[in-house]
Amino acid sequence: ATDKGFFGHPKGLSTLFFTELWERFSYYGMRAILIFYMYYSVANGGLDLDKSTSIALMSIYGSLIYMTGVLGGWLADRVFGTRKAVFLGGVLIMVGHIVLSLPNSGITGLFSAMVLLAVGTGLLKPNVSSMIGDLYDPKDVRRAGGFSIFYMGINLGGFLAPYVTGSFMDNFHLGFLVAAVGMALGLAFFLITQNKFLGDAGKTVTNPIAKEERGRVAILFSSIAVGLLIIACVAYAFDVLTIKYVINFISCVAIILPIVYFIVMLRSKKTDSDEKSRLLAYIPLFITAVMFWMIQEQGSSVLAVFASDRVTGSFFGWTISPAFYQSFNPLFVIFLSPVFAMIWTKLGDRQPSTPRKFALGLFFAGLSFLIMMLPGILGGTEMHSASPIWLVLSFLLVTIGELCLSPVGLGVTTQLAPRAFAAQTMGVWFLSNSMAQGINAQIGQVFSADIEIQYFGILGTIAVVIGIILFIITPKLLKLMKGIK
Ligand code: GLN
Repeated sequence: ATDKGFFGHPKGLSTLFFTELWERFSYYGMRAILIFYMYYSVANGGLDLDKSTSIALMSIYGSLIYMTGVLGGWLADRVFGTRKAVFLGGVLIMVGHIVLSLPNSGITGLFSAMVLLAVGTGLLKPNVSSMIGDLYDPKDVRRAGGFSIFYMGINLGGFLAPYVTGSFMDNFHLGFLVAAVGMALGLAFFLITQNKFLGDAGKTVTNPIAKEERGRVAILFSSIAVGLLIIACVAYAFDVLTIKYVINFISCVAIILPIVYFIVMLRSKKTDSDEKSRLLAYIPLFITAVMFWMIQEQGSSVLAVFASDRVTGSFFGWTISPAFYQSFNPLFVIFLSPVFAMIWTKLGDRQPSTPRKFALGLFFAGLSFLIMMLPGILGGTEMHSASPIWLVLSFLLVTIGELCLSPVGLGVTTQLAPRAFAAQTMGVWFLSNSMAQGINAQIGQVFSADIEIQYFGILGTIAVVIGIILFIITPKLLKLMKGIK
């Protein structure tokens, strides 16, 4: 008999749903206050970094946590099995947030937590997502619905978190502690329910490293570690081991890594000619996704600064913490997901192809930035003078875009990635976000109220133009995609 214990879906979905809900609660809870922690003065409990460095560090944090998905997928496939990988990842994330929660942890704490969160999220996020796929038979029609429910879980966590952590703006460390507790709850739920609900899913190591490979792998990993250490030592010797250079270094890696990965996939002997053609079609989609996440992810850096500095303190009469604005994107995802599901089902065969959905997604993201030119144009760029309505509208538009692009993105990556790289597919998709935030770390630094009109205008226009180009070349891409729509 098929298992229908969780809203008509396998009971195992509830384990993964709540584990990821709490993981995202802790991530977005931390993120909602992190930027203020970095640039508020010491007297106000912050680190007193300058604003542009803080914006860049927000992006670097985000870039790193999505950069490690490929590694996490590989480790699960070859060393740990998905289930152990998820658990281990959760523990590292919790420890990362505990480090941030220690009073006086300062800059050292900020960077140590960054490393822990990067490795932890790389182990947890792609693997918890791929286990969803394992819950269903290949022919089970409930699979897509399962992923939608899961995406809502992600956003439920993201929605609730800023309300809790946002009330700790006078003691950021307590807010980070709340994030750690959130992850602990997720881990506890995972431990208690996994054996009952997940059966054997994710227990075995699918493709264990053969004995003769072990030496090679050990050499590869240790040379990466030694390489990083040498770079750090040289940087230290030349006195450039500064925040600025760390940011630049991570930006470079975030941009180069996906390019190298695509070259490796294209040149691999295991990739056949149809797969090569599909991979070529995937590249413009990947670029579109990068531009999309560049805008979407600035919601928690550039737009957070806007919320704190430019928007009037009152939200239609209520005084609210600027961190609360972080909950609009997830809130809109929760409300609009069912609407989109209905629209796609209604359209059936007439629904737009994947590249067209991507084009639409980027188009809306572009609009979400173009609309942010208006408060400055209409009312000037004085501190605390803008109506909050613009931010809310901007979050609404970008979320409409997100629902066109993000849920289909994961699916199309699975279909277009070569079979030999299947275990890292989720990681490849997350690399689009990592690259986006690597680029954001550079461009976000120029943001200030003085140039906000140009800033939103230029990025918004680029996004709309790329969206239109993608729309035009869609027929060519569909040919290259060989039967996948
Ligand atoms: N907001 C989504 C999440 O946190 C988007 C991540 C992504 O790059 N797909 O899961």
